[in-house]
Amino acid sequence: MFTFDTPLANIPSIKKLTLGKLQRLEIFSVRDMLYHFPHRYEDYTEIHPIDSLIPDEKCTLVGTVTDIKAGRTWKKKMLLTEATLVDESGQIRLIWFNQRFVAQTLKSDMQIRVSGKVSRDRDGLIMQNPAFERSERDATHTGRLVPVYPETSGLTSRFFRWQLTGIFQKLAQFPDPVPEEILDRLHLPSLKQALFYIHFPKSEKFALLARKRFAFDEMFFVQLKALQVKALFETARGNPLTCDETALKKFIATFPFTLTNAQKKASTEILADLKKTRPMNRLLNGDVGSGKTIVAAIAAFVAAENGLQTAILAPTEVLARQHFESLSKIFRETQHDITLFTGSYRIFGGTTVTRPTLLKAISAGIPKIIVGTHALLQNDVAFDNLALIVVDEQHRFGVSQRARLQELSYTSLDESKEIVPHFLSMTATPIPRTLTLAFFGNLDLSLLDELPKDRKPIITRIAASNSEREKTYALVRSEIAKGRQAFIIFPLVEESLALKEIKAAVAEHKRLEEEVFPHLKIGLLHGRLKAKEKEEVMRDFQEKKYDILVATAVVEVGINVPNASIIIIEEAERFGLAQLHQFRGRVGRAEHQSYCFLFPHQEAQSINERLKILEKTTNGFTIAEADLGIRGPGAFFGTRQSGMPDIAMENLTNMKLIQIAREEAKLILSEDALLVDHPLLKDALQKFEEQIHLE
Ligand code: ADP
Ligand code: MG
Repeated sequence: MFTFDTPLANIPSIKKLTLGKLQRLEIFSVRDMLYHFPHRYEDYTEIHPIDSLIPDEKCTLVGTVTDIKAGRTWKKKMLLTEATLVDESGQIRLIWFNQRFVAQTLKSDMQIRVSGKVSRDRDGLIMQNPAFERSERDATHTGRLVPVYPETSGLTSRFFRWQLTGIFQKLAQFPDPVPEEILDRLHLPSLKQALFYIHFPKSEKFALLARKRFAFDEMFFVQLKALQVKALFETARGNPLTCDETALKKFIATFPFTLTNAQKKASTEILADLKKTRPMNRLLNGDVGSGKTIVAAIAAFVAAENGLQTAILAPTEVLARQHFESLSKIFRETQHDITLFTGSYRIFGGTTVTRPTLLKAISAGIPKIIVGTHALLQNDVAFDNLALIVVDEQHRFGVSQRARLQELSYTSLDESKEIVPHFLSMTATPIPRTLTLAFFGNLDLSLLDELPKDRKPIITRIAASNSEREKTYALVRSEIAKGRQAFIIFPLVEESLALKEIKAAVAEHKRLEEEVFPHLKIGLLHGRLKAKEKEEVMRDFQEKKYDILVATAVVEVGINVPNASIIIIEEAERFGLAQLHQFRGRVGRAEHQSYCFLFPHQEAQSINERLKILEKTTNGFTIAEADLGIRGPGAFFGTRQSGMPDIAMENLTNMKLIQIAREEAKLILSEDALLVDHPLLKDALQKFEEQIHLE
């Protein structure tokens, strides 16, 4: 007999070669196999009499095999097996190409069931490469709602169906982590039922019910985890900061603008948190250009006035450096030093210092505001009195880095007790509400849903034709003549394509330089450049040594070049709306009227419909909701990035499911915070965590 944990290596019917292929899909145990779900089903439930068949119909037939002929095709020398299937009403020819096992198993007078598509050729009706099995057997490959599995690494659906049938026969226990009362309350099937329904559904209804159960499980786990982390924060000891209102007002008065209402509200929420005895754990969710930096600066100022340190983390060196520069300006009139600590830069007291020097200064508590990349998370970086951690674009940090962030704490002098720093996460992707709850269920939320008033809305146009492209280039020339600058963005989609994309960007750079803008200076920025080179290009662009910057998607977040007034995005349809909105946010960062041109690669009605949303609105949250509807949650976070499993991803638009999962998670944790009375659930949650922490 098997259990969930039986390794597939112990199953004699799985050959070594196959085992290797399964491992590549990260399928090692019976459990993994059971959780390898079909991605669709073919409906072969109905059995048709042969004389009723119509070409192009997908159907199941039952009959007797006669006239088996094996041979090779004349031209391509493919293995060929032909046979005739006879039932009471008529007969049909069957043909298989290159399927050795058919020739080996099929015998004359055998009663079989076949499922496939009927077609017609010169000689009448025929079925090509149908699935078949002996009709006295239970329906596995034919005559039912046949599951189709993701067929990668050379593993066929037939293999999965066959193995899963065997596994179900040998599996005695289906330990269910979700308490029965919850399943009853929500009318969800047991784990055993759900696994059976997903692999062997009697009808579409059962498959859906199973998916509903698994979607619940995953969201339930996500929420349990989030609430546990939240509870941990709530019981943790924080450092209540005091806020000197007069000093703060004086600091705010040095800004060259007045705060927007949204910035005021978010700052108030953050300051209230900082005063509490438990650590803040908050997400600042704001549109591009909504001014998150200054809000973070206000929090850092309060910490510094308390004599305590703030770490500000950015996902890349370029962004860290930029934060460093903006914060240096913001804090110019204060006595607080801003320090930069990345892989390549160590700046302290306005000069470059060595790593050991800076480490010593940080651990002595001298610099109060330390901007950096994940380099700040190395184990030898010790803070003296870290009161606040600000993380820009947290989802772009790896899981181990996130874990390290949670560990950062310091020991207070008086009671030698661990103090957990206040935590502020920032994201420039406006995230729809369902997603914040699902992904950041452990965080409190502040929204910056308003742009500074002096902004002119960016004019956005889809430029599909050649003449529009020419007009756009003409506008670029005239804007540059006025002293402005332009971005031209090239898509860089998948890692594996990076080289090809870069070639395209290099070629385009050349074309633009030689043919389109021969008199202008054009820089090139792509992902394969070293951090220093990237930064040099960026700085040169900021210092106007280039008129135009051709870039792959690396400029996506945060880069600030206020003088740029045009952005052109090539093959715009390859990006999601939220991402395009991010790109667009690279311009319109100062008083100049700015433009965004979307050049679609293909001309299709549906593409234009989608892109038109950007023409119509500049509100990031509206765009985010639209993107969520069109492309699903993948539009916001890749599965791997988020650590969110597939089914849960599919269900992130399902507010009701998320809320129900959250309620159930709350309920169970209120009675049993550490899940000691629910060992199966505790265990499953642990496994779930390991599984989503694979990256
Ligand atoms: P983001 O939210 O995208 O990180 P930033 O913090 O980089 O935005 O701010 C974008 C620009 O807007 C910066 O140049 C900043 O100085 C400016 N800014 C921020 N707040 C305001 C405001 N209230 N009024 C005018 N300009 C502002
Ligand atoms: Mg920013």
